[in-house]
Amino acid sequence: MVKTCSWGTCNSDSRFPERIVDVRFIPFPKPKTNWEKCARWVKACGRPHSQLNVTNIDRHKFVCSKHFVKPDGPTEEYPDPVPADGSKVKKSRPHWRQRSPLSVLSVAAELTDLQQRLVACKEQLHQQKILNEHLLAENESLKKISAHTSSDFLPLSVDMILKQDTEDKKLFEYYSSLKYDTFVKLLQFLTAEDTPKIQRKRKDILSMTNENQLLLTLIRLRHNFGLKDLAFRFCISQQAVSEIFNAWIDHMFLLLGTIPIWPHHDSNKFM
Ligand SMILES: [Zn+2]
Repeated sequence: MVKTCSWGTCNSDSRFPERIVDVRFIPFPKPKTNWEKCARWVKACGRPHSQLNVTNIDRHKFVCSKHFVKPDGPTEEYPDPVPADGSKVKKSRPHWRQRSPLSVLSVAAELTDLQQRLVACKEQLHQQKILNEHLLAENESLKKISAHTSSDFLPLSVDMILKQDTEDKKLFEYYSSLKYDTFVKLLQFLTAEDTPKIQRKRKDILSMTNENQLLLTLIRLRHNFGLKDLAFRFCISQQAVSEIFNAWIDHMFLLLGTIPIWPHHDSNKFM
C-alpha cells in the first residue's frame, strides 16, 4: 500500500525512500471510532476541504511522524499533529479518567464528603421543619390560652359591664341600681372637690379608678354581696374591698348629708 502524508505541503511518500528517512506513517484516527480526534487532525493538516475532510478519511490516510512535537509521533501529552498553518500547538486536556489515580481518588472522596454533607443538611432541614411546625402549633395554643385567660379573668369594671350591656339586659342598672347617666353625675358630684379618704395606700386600691370604686360600693349597697365575693369579682383583696366600701360610705354620708333631701318641717305644716 502506498503511504503518503496528508499534512500541509509535506511530500513524504513511501514510493520515494529518500523522502522517508526516519519517518513513520501514522494512520488517521477514524471518524467512526473517534470523530473529534479525526476532525482535529483534519484541521491540523490544513489542506483544502475538497482534498481532506472527515468524510474522506479512510485507512489510506496518514500523517508522517515529522509533524508531531515528539519525534516518534503522537504522545499522550501531544496526541495531534502540529497545525500546518503555524498556529500554536495545543496540549491535550487530560480527561478526568486520565488523571492520576490519586487525584481521581481525592475527587471521589470530595464527592462522597459533599454527598454526606448534603444528606446531613437535608436531615437538619427536615428537623428544623418539624421544629418550626411544632413551634407554630405551640404559638397558636399559647395565643388561644392567652385570649382565654384575658377574657376569663378580667376584673369586673364599669367598662366591662357597659361592653356587655344591652337595652334588654339593663346590666348596669342591675348592678349599680342606677342608670349610667345618673351614675356619671353622681360620680362627678362625689369627686368634684375631694375623693374618699382611703387610709392605707394599697397597691390594688391604687390601681382601681374612682369610677370602679363607686361601682363596687353601689353593688354592695344594692345586693349586699359579701367581701369575699366582691374581692373575687374585682380581683382585689377582701381588705381592699372593705377599705374602699367604708371610705366611700363615709364620703357619701358627708357629701349627700348636706343635700336637703327632706323639706323643712315648716313646709309640711299645710299638707
Ligand atoms: Zn508529512
